[in-house]
Amino acid sequence: IYTSPIKTNTTEQLNAGGLATIYDITNLKKLEQIRTEFVSNVTHELKTPLTSIRGFIETLKSGAIDDKSVAVKFLDIIDIESERLSSLINDILQLSEIENKTKDSDISSHKINNTVKEIYDMIQGVASKKNVQLSFEVEENITITANKNRIKQMLINLIDNAIKYNIDGGTVYLKVFKTEGKINFIIKDSGIGIDEEHIHRIFERFYRVDKGRSRNMGGTGLGLSIVKHIVNLYNGNIKVTSKLGSGTEFIVQLPA
Ligand code: ADP
Repeated sequence: IYTSPIKTNTTEQLNAGGLATIYDITNLKKLEQIRTEFVSNVTHELKTPLTSIRGFIETLKSGAIDDKSVAVKFLDIIDIESERLSSLINDILQLSEIENKTKDSDISSHKINNTVKEIYDMIQGVASKKNVQLSFEVEENITITANKNRIKQMLINLIDNAIKYNIDGGTVYLKVFKTEGKINFIIKDSGIGIDEEHIHRIFERFYRVDKGRSRNMGGTGLGLSIVKHIVNLYNGNIKVTSKLGSGTEFIVQLPA
């Protein structure tokens, strides 16, 4: 039993006439542990590219700059690592923004097929570089009342993963359709799949099945965590089915 003026779970009238707050300390401890873990993960994730950047700058300064081809190679690495830092900071900021929300801001009614068209134009280049074929099928005239950027972010993160964890010559299929009271999004890929032992953890922050592959693809380990928070913010649900070696399917349902 813990007395706290901050938050009330159950209140009881004491004999003395004061108010006691009964607080589940196990929950508090769990929250504190999650927070500490997150801070330590963030620190580690930020330090990794920074250490690499500083290392290559040092090597350049101590002579490597005189060999032009070596210097160009090192500068390219510094460039990639800086980009990684920037994506990481963007994802952390996004996550902390939605995490504290119970209702989204900038809500408007907009047509899903316009949003999907914008995503297609944005992502088509990335897909063709990886020789992955996109096929999008969106029911006409579905309107959603939501923060447009948020819905766009949710779909981009899922489609981006479907491309990243795909095989050469693979496919990504997006279907959007309406059923009673719900807007359904199916994102299906023919990629590497996710093993059963990992599937229940992929929505955790910084959890990656294959850290090396994720890093090489520019992943931050936060994409699906952001997706899950967006889905929760809109009282929707998300399901994933996957088979190692034969692809993954995500189904998101949002209230219409
Ligand atoms: P990342 O930045 O590493 O892609 P995410 O949070 O988006 O982070 O995804 C977490 C992990 O889940 C990825 O590292 C990857 O191992 C796995 N994953 C996500 N989407 C897919 C997919 N479509 N196919 C296979 N594995 C996936």
